[in-house]
Amino acid sequence: MSERTESFPALSEGSRAALVRLLVHGPASRADLARRLRLSPASLTRIVRTLEDSGLVVESETTVPQRMGRPSQAMEVNVDAVHLVGIKLLAGEINLVRTDMRSTVLGHRTIPLQTVPLDPAIDRITEAILAEVAVDPAVGAVGISLAGPVDPSSDMVTHSPFLGWEDVPLARLVSERTGLPTVIENDVRALTAAEHWFGAAAGATDFVLVTIGAGIGCGVVIGDRLVDGNTGGAGQIGHLPITPSGPLCERGHRGCARSYLASSAMVGQASMALHRPDLTYAELVSLAHQGERVASRVVRDAGYALGTLIGLVTAITAPSKVIISGEGVTMVPLVMDVVQERASEVEHWAVPDVPIEIAEFGFVEWARGAAVIALQQLLEAAISPA
Ligand SMILES: [Zn+2]
Repeated sequence: MSERTESFPALSEGSRAALVRLLVHGPASRADLARRLRLSPASLTRIVRTLEDSGLVVESETTVPQRMGRPSQAMEVNVDAVHLVGIKLLAGEINLVRTDMRSTVLGHRTIPLQTVPLDPAIDRITEAILAEVAVDPAVGAVGISLAGPVDPSSDMVTHSPFLGWEDVPLARLVSERTGLPTVIENDVRALTAAEHWFGAAAGATDFVLVTIGAGIGCGVVIGDRLVDGNTGGAGQIGHLPITPSGPLCERGHRGCARSYLASSAMVGQASMALHRPDLTYAELVSLAHQGERVASRVVRDAGYALGTLIGLVTAITAPSKVIISGEGVTMVPLVMDVVQERASEVEHWAVPDVPIEIAEFGFVEWARGAAVIALQQLLEAAISPA
């Protein structure tokens, strides 16, 4: 992450933990917080006082019942203490959201963007961010997500064929021009971060998010930490082999996950067989829903590929749940039986089946995930050396 975090108060490890607890789990009494964080009442009092002094935590209007004695005043995060800008970078446009600290979307825009040449593209991204700062001076950090391997500990987009970028120090360029701390992250991991703190997996310490649609990816949380992997390459499951025979993907693999499951591959196969060159993904799912033979086969094969991926990731990471998300998620209810059956074939025989859930998905979720990454990095960077 690029520098400049003076605008955000310094935090101790303990105060960050208390703040995160309140963010993820909502208002809590001092006694409850002390118990959850294994702190003495005296330490907790000190922590809450510094958080209150810096405006990050306030006394809630609600009270919480106590096991003994009077109901106690709850503490809660002042969600407007800092606002975040999250951006999902695509080949032809950016999706931008402005959120509060609990990831409530305060504003959303889509802006056309030519990513090549680079300088005008960076100018355009910068202008979009500064326009948000102009209407909302509480904006304190920026997160930018994009597809492919991205190392959030680096400023650099090393290789992004779909943007036409090689070795672009995106986080540094944006930070220099906006004066805001800026972090970059893989889009699927950013979405996973949003589910981890504020979504379907809020508070879960071990879970997996699998996304399907234009891209196939997964985000893994183990021991409450999002796994980035070496140089940010974790979760690139799109080309894992599913069957030795099968369609070809765009990289020439026969029967890989993308060849069955990418929305473009599914539409391509169905449109060819049905002689419908203009077929859309929504129409394909609707035809499968009506029981049309070709569409049903394409969707069931995709379900088999998805079940295989979930089984593999589950066998390796032992999550408490698997969440399926992404713009392609609309086909999953039609084939949940196939997905579940195949996943349990691939998982270890002695391990109980892991629950599989479908997340509600709207396209704004990608940018919202980037805003959550901005917040997480801001809190990480705010920790002062003891
Ligand atoms: Zn492939």
